[in-house]
Amino acid sequence: MGKMTDQYLANNRKYAGGEALHKAAHPGKQPINPAKHVAVLACMDARIDVEDLLGLQTGDAHIIRNAGGVVNDDAIRCLIISHHLLDTNEIILIHHTRCGMLAFTDDLLKAGLEGDPAAEKLLGQATHRAFKSCEKCASTPSQFHAFRGAIEPLDAAPTAKQIERLRWDVRRSMSAILNHPWIPTSGPDAVSVRGFIYDVDTGKLDEVSYPGSMGSIS
Ligand SMILES: [Zn+2]
Repeated sequence: MGKMTDQYLANNRKYAGGEALHKAAHPGKQPINPAKHVAVLACMDARIDVEDLLGLQTGDAHIIRNAGGVVNDDAIRCLIISHHLLDTNEIILIHHTRCGMLAFTDDLLKAGLEGDPAAEKLLGQATHRAFKSCEKCASTPSQFHAFRGAIEPLDAAPTAKQIERLRWDVRRSMSAILNHPWIPTSGPDAVSVRGFIYDVDTGKLDEVSYPGSMGSIS
């Protein structure tokens, strides 16, 4: 399982060491199917260059990104299309240290957007930006997918607790993909899933064991 992922880990060690593997120039005519049959789901964080850190070239992979690299409805939609129509069979999940999704909860952000002064104050303190409420309720997005666990200041340096919270969410994401009825995980059409935490300070990937704890509210 995860046949090519070990090669990407070797590429990542070179990237973290200062070596550039991704070629930026247009490669010329290419087929539509990703050459390496891989799909990556990663956080949108500005410090992450997915192709660079994995040593992927243009045409190699589908790259799906959102806030947190979370498995929401749209990420699942992309992964199903990626596998069943465009022949990818390997999924790589990338969460990362210092992620903004560690610094709020869904309830806190919703209350702030709807006009709760206490939530506005907390969000302002967390982000060092004047949080301005819209003073309106909305039905969508139904979830922001903030990570489980006690919130910490935005961009806080990684601690054992932070890494644990990130691991929880990587495992929750892996579980949501591995248990989706339209993503086969056994037989000849099986898809493999591996999850990682990317250290934005060092450029290194660290694999998350699975299965394991998916978190606690305590
Ligand atoms: Zn992030």
